[in-house]
Parts: sequence; C-alpha cells; structure tokens
Amino acid sequence: MAIDSHCHLDDDAFVPDRDAVIARAQALGVRGIVVPAYRADCFDRLRDCCARPSLLSLWPAYGLHPCYVAAHEAEHVSRLEDLLATTDAVAVGEIGLDRHAEDLRHPGLWRRQQDLLAAQLQLAQSYDLPVILHARSAYAELISMLRRHRPCAGVVHAFNGRLEQAYAFLDLGLVLGVGGVITQPSAQRLRDILRRLPQDAWVLESDAPDMLPYEVYRVGGRRNEPSFLAYNIAALAQTLERSPVWVAQQAEQTTRRILRLPALDASE
Ligand SMILES: [Zn+2]
Repeated sequence: MAIDSHCHLDDDAFVPDRDAVIARAQALGVRGIVVPAYRADCFDRLRDCCARPSLLSLWPAYGLHPCYVAAHEAEHVSRLEDLLATTDAVAVGEIGLDRHAEDLRHPGLWRRQQDLLAAQLQLAQSYDLPVILHARSAYAELISMLRRHRPCAGVVHAFNGRLEQAYAFLDLGLVLGVGGVITQPSAQRLRDILRRLPQDAWVLESDAPDMLPYEVYRVGGRRNEPSFLAYNIAALAQTLERSPVWVAQQAEQTTRRILRLPALDASE
C-alpha cells in the first residue's frame, strides 16, 4: 500500500535488527523501499543490503551526498559511473547542495559541492536516470543548476521551501518528498503548500534512521524506521482531508512513475 521513497536501510543503525525492521514495515503495508547512498565507501554495503532476499522490494540509488563533500574524491565519481552502468540503480542519489554542511567552514568546499552536483547531474543524463536531491538553504542555486543540467525526473527529498519553489521543481519534472517534517506542529507553511499542489506532486519518505515523526520523537524515540511512515501518511491525509489509504496509493503511483519502478504483479 505504500512505498518509502527514501530510507537509509543500509545504515549501521539497522545492523542489530534489519530483518525485524523490514518485517514491521511490511506488516504495516510498506511494499518497497528506495535506498539512496551518501558516500562511496558505503556503495558495496548498500548494494549487498538491496540484493539480499527480502520481504520487500529494495531498490538501490547511488550518489555522493553534499554533506560529505570533503570525503568525495575524483575516483568516487568514476566508481559511481561504473555502478550506474552495471547495476540496477533506480536513481542517482542522494545528491545536492547543503549550506549547513560542517565542511563549508573550509574554503572551496561550497564550490566543490556545486561541481560534484553538476558532474552527477550529467551522469543522470547520460544514463537516463532520475535523481534524488538533498538541499538545505540552497533551493535557488539548486533550481538554476537543474535548469542547466536537466534530469529526466526526480524527487526533492524533504522539501520544505516556498510555494513558488515547489512549482519551479514541478516544472522541471520533479516531485516533492514528504517526510517527518509534516508531522511537526510548526510545519504549517508546508501543509498549506501541499494543499495547493496537484495530487501527483509528492511522494512519501521516512529518511530513516533520521527524521523521526513528531509523535515518536515526543515520547523519546531515537531511531526512525520505515514502519513509522504511517505517521507521515496520517499527517498528510489529515492535511489533505483524504484517507490514509488514498494518500499511500496516490504516493505509490507517483513514486513508481517518477522512479520508473516495476508495476506490482497481482500476487503482491
Ligand atoms: Zn537521506
């Protein structure tokens, strides 16, 4: 009934109980999870995680995350290209721009984030793959780079911008990732924007192990997991005055369209 379009299931946080996490997600109606990468030294781990037999479909994406810009080297871009050419990656991600990355205290690293993003957008074009984008305090720069290196499609993960920025992304053929932020009492602007957008403008994401839904955070929860997607679905359903089932199905259709995921077979 739902797809988690963004979960770091390969993360060390899930080493103790990954199978149980997957089983809980499946029991709550999650049918598939997109697992984006953040650093080249995690590519093998991620590929193995997605290749293991699982109750769910696990789809890998590969990319170099802007928050780890100091760790990325030229050979990592070649390594990324090899993976895009030879594996069943569904997207290039997560990639983007982040003005709050710690590394930006070092001169030149903001420029390097932009160069890395340009190189990865070009790879996405070459391999005709959608992108999974991360941006903080950088939507204007991101939009202008996307206009220069336009991908075929993609998701703006954890969107929390303004209405005109939302429309700029939609005009570029992208959709918005709706995650834990929507559960926060302070997220009124985001909820107002989502009410005004078309129903095929968004997908659902947990961003686990990060971005705990407010209800779980409030009671002392520490680690997010894909079964908590149910909180994000409930908050979006309430926002749009629709049923949770409608929200989950609508988002699943949009995720499958944007990331070109295989249609479900009748047995699922
Ligand atoms: Zn992420």
